[in-house]
Amino acid sequence: MPLSYTALKTFRDCHFRYHLRYDRGLPSRPRPAAQSSRALHGALHLFHQGLKQGQAGERTWFPPVAVSLEMLLTHFKAYYDNPTRPLTERQYHEGRALLTRYWEAHRGQFPTPYLLEAPFKLHVGPFLLAGRFDRVDETPEGFEIVDYKLSHRSPLPPDPLQLDVYQLGFHAKTGEEAKKLSFYYLRLGEKESIEADDLNAAQARVRAVCRDISGEQEFRPHEGVWCSTCDFQEFCPAKARNPRPVPATGRARQLGFDFGL
Ligand code: SF4
Repeated sequence: MPLSYTALKTFRDCHFRYHLRYDRGLPSRPRPAAQSSRALHGALHLFHQGLKQGQAGERTWFPPVAVSLEMLLTHFKAYYDNPTRPLTERQYHEGRALLTRYWEAHRGQFPTPYLLEAPFKLHVGPFLLAGRFDRVDETPEGFEIVDYKLSHRSPLPPDPLQLDVYQLGFHAKTGEEAKKLSFYYLRLGEKESIEADDLNAAQARVRAVCRDISGEQEFRPHEGVWCSTCDFQEFCPAKARNPRPVPATGRARQLGFDFGL
């Protein structure tokens, strides 16, 4: 299984949690907000795709249809109407409100997307690192990676490790370097940006985490604020009085590979 930024972050926070999730392959509980997030990401993707095609002159009816609020909400409603993955009424109405605010905030000045919902992969030592860009904009200052967030804004600054992973992924995919990473908080209608470090520094940090994963043998639990979202507390010796035995089946660890480049 390819590693993602989330996997690297999980390892950094708690080795035991990482081991259960990524070595043993124990599933995480589905999050109620996941459907909403998927629908909002999908609607924004289709909307910006239409916009991009219009900007490239691929559609004769642009403008105004592709850039209309009705079009954006129509994309979102398609998720609501999908019988296999229905949103709740509350999620649907909240999503409409968020998208309406998004559209009004950018009306007449929508960004020029360079990439949309674009996957990336790269090898770091023995690991395959993978992820997906929600959107990358080409701005006069350089490339800006935009990550949509449905979560509430953290009081902590954005995690530089996430930017490092995106920076490496962007370079692997395009040969270019990003100038900054922005988190767009859909619930607040606010964007928070951090400047990108250079490629070599990002690569060194990501490789250091991957090297630690490759060499880890003990996988001790490490308690912290992240425990509140942990799905494996029943197995955890730091949390449960009588922790359940960890299921024996799981994936083989990626050990014994040459980590040199
Ligand atoms: S409950 Fe906390 S310490 Fe235990 S596995 Fe989960 S994250 Fe790690």
